[in-house]
Amino acid sequence: MQIIRDITTLRQHIKKARQAGKTVGFVPTMGYLHPGHLSLLHQARNENDLTVLSIFVNPLQFGVGEDYEEYPRDLEADAAQAETAGCDLIFAPTVKEMYPKGYATFVDVERLTETLCGASRPGHFRGVTTVVTKLFNIVTPDRAYFGQKDAQQALVLRKMARDLNMDLQVLIMPTIREKDGLAMSSRNTYLSPEERTQATVLSRSLRQAQEKIKHGERDANKITEFITQTIQSEPLANIDYVAIVDTDEIKPTETINGQTLIALAVRFGKTRLIDNIIVEVS
Ligand code: AMP
Repeated sequence: MQIIRDITTLRQHIKKARQAGKTVGFVPTMGYLHPGHLSLLHQARNENDLTVLSIFVNPLQFGVGEDYEEYPRDLEADAAQAETAGCDLIFAPTVKEMYPKGYATFVDVERLTETLCGASRPGHFRGVTTVVTKLFNIVTPDRAYFGQKDAQQALVLRKMARDLNMDLQVLIMPTIREKDGLAMSSRNTYLSPEERTQATVLSRSLRQAQEKIKHGERDANKITEFITQTIQSEPLANIDYVAIVDTDEIKPTETINGQTLIALAVRFGKTRLIDNIIVEVS
């Protein structure tokens, strides 16, 4: 496995693989790998000849006052884990390589980025869609893998790839969780022991909501209210949003029907956690 820092060298490797008739699977990340990332790498490895992982903490998707500087970074540990998971190439560019002086081009997906995390983090998705477009142009994958953990991100990127006729498949893989249900995230390392214990309320509230839906509840307001109250029972939890939306337009729905995303963002101290489930109701 090789770690590549510059776009030209990465392109040479991809070109060689293409000439040998190999397919390319791609997993974009911000690094500090955990089993959630590794599950995407395993899937990419299973479905493609060449597996490329990118590690880039993208300044463009962090707002003012967010955790760009503190975001955990450990390239050496990441490389060891990626290699074990069957990764062939790590692309870990510098900020200057991705955004040289005078950089001026951005990609915007409308509507789907205006709700949920898009409402709380202005400019966040513009940063994500811009960097992922650049990475797609550099890596030219056949398949790109994203986690349902960041459901809105994955749906926005799927929409972007379709709208812009990008010649690749966007695949969305299940959320990998800790034993107690907490969705794995590089940001979980910020949590104090007390916050970590209370954070299990997120997945628990979603699981219980899913049960209610299974038993026939279809009123989105009632489910939202139930999740809100459950989370508020933990004193350190500060709700950013609890929302029930459709998976095409990511627009709030009053009645749970068809494929529906139940998503939430909650702060524990300075740490903002997200989680979600997708329910299918006919
Ligand atoms: P990040 O490094 O947090 O930007 O995440 C990189 C990719 O890994 C994104 O597609 C995430 O959705 C995915 N991911 C992060 N956490 C998980 C998880 N717990 N389970 C599955 N995928 C995840």
